[in-house]
Amino acid sequence: MDLQDLYRDVILDHNRKPRNFGPLDPADVSLEGFNPLCGDRLTLRLKFVGDLISDIRFEGQGCAISTASTSLMTEAVKGKTRDQALALFKRVHELLTIDTANADELGKLAALSGVRGYPARVKCASLCWHTLESALRPPAA
Ligand code: ZN
Repeated sequence: MDLQDLYRDVILDHNRKPRNFGPLDPADVSLEGFNPLCGDRLTLRLKFVGDLISDIRFEGQGCAISTASTSLMTEAVKGKTRDQALALFKRVHELLTIDTANADELGKLAALSGVRGYPARVKCASLCWHTLESALRPPAA
């Protein structure tokens, strides 16, 4: 099985069986994301214990790329600190937009590298990550 097949399988699997999908109540932060180009909509809910993301769940309707990306993201950032999650956001953003060097360091998230070079798909894959970033950044003073 070559790498592209592997990536496609990860995306299909997470689209069919999204992880951490459903309501989270009560949540500490709730944020909506919308990608008008494709119509992807999601609501991201997070719970914190101190600086740690203790739980994260999502709801919404999106294309396969958007759903799989959100599912992979929730798996990847659950249990991480805000700073670790923001660092991961940066790495994935680079993966989607700049280059795929050392993509394997990102584990399953490397599957998202398949969309690089397709700007419309990049929007689908990065929607949840931008929503996460907004949810983690303190509001500007
Ligand atoms: Zn989409």
